[in-house]
Amino acid sequence: MEVTGTEACPTDVEVAGTEACPTVMMKFVADVMLGRLVRLMRFSGYDVEYDRNAADEMLLRRSRYRMLLTKDRSLAERAQKYKVYLVKTSGGEHQLAEIKKEFPLRLECSATRCLVCNRKIRAIRKSRVEHLVPPFVFRKYDTFYFCRQCRRVYWQGTHFERMSRVIK
Ligand SMILES: [Zn+2]
Repeated sequence: MEVTGTEACPTDVEVAGTEACPTVMMKFVADVMLGRLVRLMRFSGYDVEYDRNAADEMLLRRSRYRMLLTKDRSLAERAQKYKVYLVKTSGGEHQLAEIKKEFPLRLECSATRCLVCNRKIRAIRKSRVEHLVPPFVFRKYDTFYFCRQCRRVYWQGTHFERMSRVIK
């Protein structure tokens, strides 16, 4: 997936789908060692909080509200009274497979999320991104997505295809 940040804001973004997911959908927060997994999970539609500067105390606080994913056994023990899952495998792809098995995603929640800020991204009409993406990208692709939170535009470039293969 290609991504570009921009200050320019399309004024009326076309809204596809809805933000409303069943409230039962599990939300996650991941420790700093799981950056690759976080991107793959967001791409698959999981709601994952991630801050590469997050201290253990902050992660513990967040684990009251979200399932904490960690590779750190001692952190997992400290989080025991809340929600915590100790990731067993290594490498983003293996970890994603592990998570999918452990916490299957409900189909209606599987819209792609922004890889940077975790918000759901929405389809945006091609004509609205002409001034936001490089000309060769505009010519080559027809499907674009927009993150209203951080104003990034995504399109189905080679990275997108590679990640799609990974998460299947
Ligand atoms: Zn974003």
